Amino acid sequence: MSHATADRYAWAQPGVEDLGGGVHRIPLPLPMEGLRAVNVYAIADPGGVDLIDAGIALVPAREQLAAGLGQIGYELGDIRNFFVTHIHVDHYSLAVELRRTFPSVISLGEQEHANLLATRELVNGNRNRFFGPDWLRRLGALDLVTELSAQDRRPPAVIDWEDPDHWLADGTDLDLRTRTLRAVHTPGHTQGHLVYHDAAAQIMFAGDHVLPHITPSIGFEAAGNRMALSDYLSSLARTLALPDARLLPAHGPVTSSTHERVHELLAHHDTRLGETLGAVQAGNATPFEVAKAIKWTRRHRAFAELDVFSQVQAVNETAAHLEVLAIRGELTRSVSADGADLYQLSTEEPWRP
Ligand SMILES: [Zn+2]
Repeated sequence: MSHATADRYAWAQPGVEDLGGGVHRIPLPLPMEGLRAVNVYAIADPGGVDLIDAGIALVPAREQLAAGLGQIGYELGDIRNFFVTHIHVDHYSLAVELRRTFPSVISLGEQEHANLLATRELVNGNRNRFFGPDWLRRLGALDLVTELSAQDRRPPAVIDWEDPDHWLADGTDLDLRTRTLRAVHTPGHTQGHLVYHDAAAQIMFAGDHVLPHITPSIGFEAAGNRMALSDYLSSLARTLALPDARLLPAHGPVTSSTHERVHELLAHHDTRLGETLGAVQAGNATPFEVAKAIKWTRRHRAFAELDVFSQVQAVNETAAHLEVLAIRGELTRSVSADGADLYQLSTEEPWRP
């Protein structure tokens, strides 16, 4: 591993980082290549701990959580609450597993309900698989079906997708013993994503809404959301409307400013929207065609260089960008004879904010 790579993933090393005020960052391992780890934040007081996010329901994560809590003088049975930012398996599933053994209370954003139901249907095989043929047809990407179904796509952890104890509404104030957290609805990464904001301590538990090193995936969720990027850009604006705060992300190191990173993410999506529009101007019409015409990852790789699962995500993200351009009036959407979304330049004067 190069020195630069080692530094880039220093945050993922096992251990506990004391952030002050009884808040500790405990990174837990993940089996997913690109992510390495997920940060769980323990908020401790003499009576026990409350956790922000829970990690994935796999033995190494559970053991590392127990070890991390042990370092600060607690055990798994001392966890009172799991305040989960969103439904993804690396944030939610270990909470469900631990609740079976230890009495604890799980809270999740109420707008995540559709994703929980859809995930359960997928797991039970009652519905077309996530990114199944219907989905890919709409993206104009049926070409990817064969390759995708040849992949081993077993879920990283097998869990029962049980309900949380509480569905949190936007703006709910959580009175912990040492601080008050406000649950703020920030859809985009998923439609029910919450960040937990402590205005008094000027810190934000940002989940996957704002990440310091990578751009969060958009709308990668079982229920699907055509409006994912539009929602996400609104959520970024909403984050800027809150006071600036120290950024406590779910993946990556703690950094000093949510606002600084939000400005970078907004600039990134502006660039991507421009490239997407350019690809339509060049005559590409379906999300699949447009995705193949633009560059991917920080290294500006060609679409063909991506693995098939990344290709599907890339096409899905492209669709989200196209939809924002349609909402802004720059593009219009129609549907082809075989059911694919087709975008073309709008002949009307585009709407300008
Ligand atoms: Zn996520």
